[in-house]
Amino acid sequence: MMMTKDKTGIIPLLGYSRDQLIELLNEMGYRPFHAKQLYSWIYYRGVFEFDQMTDLSKKLREELNSRFVLQLPRIVEQVQGEDPDSASKFLFELSDGERVEAVNIPTEDRNTVCLSCQVGCAFGCTFCATGQMGLSRNMTAAEIIGSFLAIRQNSEARISNVVFMGMGEPLANLEQVMKAYDLLTDGDGIALSKRKVTISTVGIPAQIRKLAEYSPPPKLVFSISSPHDEIRREVLPLAGRYTLKSVHEALSYYAQQTRHRITIALIVAEGLNDQLEDARALHQWIDGLPSKINLLRYNDAAGSFRRADEQAIERVAAELARLGRTVILRKSRGSDVSAACGQLAAREVRSGNDGDN
Ligand code: SF4
Repeated sequence: MMMTKDKTGIIPLLGYSRDQLIELLNEMGYRPFHAKQLYSWIYYRGVFEFDQMTDLSKKLREELNSRFVLQLPRIVEQVQGEDPDSASKFLFELSDGERVEAVNIPTEDRNTVCLSCQVGCAFGCTFCATGQMGLSRNMTAAEIIGSFLAIRQNSEARISNVVFMGMGEPLANLEQVMKAYDLLTDGDGIALSKRKVTISTVGIPAQIRKLAEYSPPPKLVFSISSPHDEIRREVLPLAGRYTLKSVHEALSYYAQQTRHRITIALIVAEGLNDQLEDARALHQWIDGLPSKINLLRYNDAAGSFRRADEQAIERVAAELARLGRTVILRKSRGSDVSAACGQLAAREVRSGNDGDN
C-alpha cells in the first residue's frame, strides 16, 4: 500500500479508513481485529497517543510509535462569543503552515460543526471573505477530519451535525470531502448520522449529478444568492457561469435520485436579494423542485454587501410563505466571533500570518 511520509520519514495515520488500517496492519503481520481496535481508538475514543491505546500489545504500540504519527491540526486561535451558548471559531494551522477555519455552533437542540474543505477558494464570490483570498490548495480528507476531531476534543457537548459551509467549495474538492464524509458517518468510529451531514454549494451542475450517485448521500444545500442569472454572474464570477436553469435541472436530478428535499439558502443582503420581486422570482425558479428555503442574515464583515434591514428580510420571508413555500428564517449565530467563512483566515493572510501566539 502507498504511504505518504513526512520530512522525518514518519507516516501520518490520521484520515486512514478502517479498510486501509486493516491492510496496513496486515502488511505488518497483524490481524484485522488489531486494526479495528486502532480505528476505534482514533475515531471513536479520540486518542492520538499510541502509548495510551491500552488494549494494543506493547510490541504493536512500539512499532506504531516508531513509524507513524497521529497529529491533529494545531489550533492557532480560538474565539468564543460572549454568551455561553454562542459559536466558537477555530483557526487551524496545517502541516505546511496553511491556515483554515472551522466553527462550532451550539443551538437548543443540536451542536453543529461547520468545516472548511479548501485553503481559500477559487470561486471569488464577492460577498464572501474566503472568496477574496483565492485558492491556495485543496484540503485532504485527513486535514478535514483532523479539524473535526480537534473541535470534538474541545467541545463539552456532543457534536450532532456537520456542515461543509466553511472555507472552500465542497463540490470542487468532492473526492476528499466524501472520504471525510465516510469517516464522519462510519458507525464504528465517529458515527454521525448520515442525515446530519450537509454539503453546501454555490451550484456546480456536473458535480451535483456526481454527488447524486453517492449512496447514501449527504444532505444538500444550494446557496442561490440571487434568483436572477445576470446578478449571479456579477456576484459569483465562476459559479454564475452556470445558468440557474442548469442548476435547477441538476438539483431535480439529485432530489429524484436521492429522494432528498433540497435546501435553498438565501443569504439576504441589502440591494442584492431583499425585494418582494426577488421573493417572487425565487418562488418561480423553485417550481417543481422538492425543497425548503432557509433565509439567513448577511454577515456585514464577510464581503462587499450589507445586511438587509430586518423588515425587508421579514417581507421576503412572508412573501415566500404566502406563495406556499416552506421558509425558515434562521437566527444569526456567531457574528460576534466573525463566523462567516474565511474571516479569521483572511485576516491572518492580510496581516502576513503574524497572529501566531
Ligand atoms: S461562497 Fe463558497 S464558493 Fe463562494 S467564494 Fe466563498 S467559499 Fe468559495
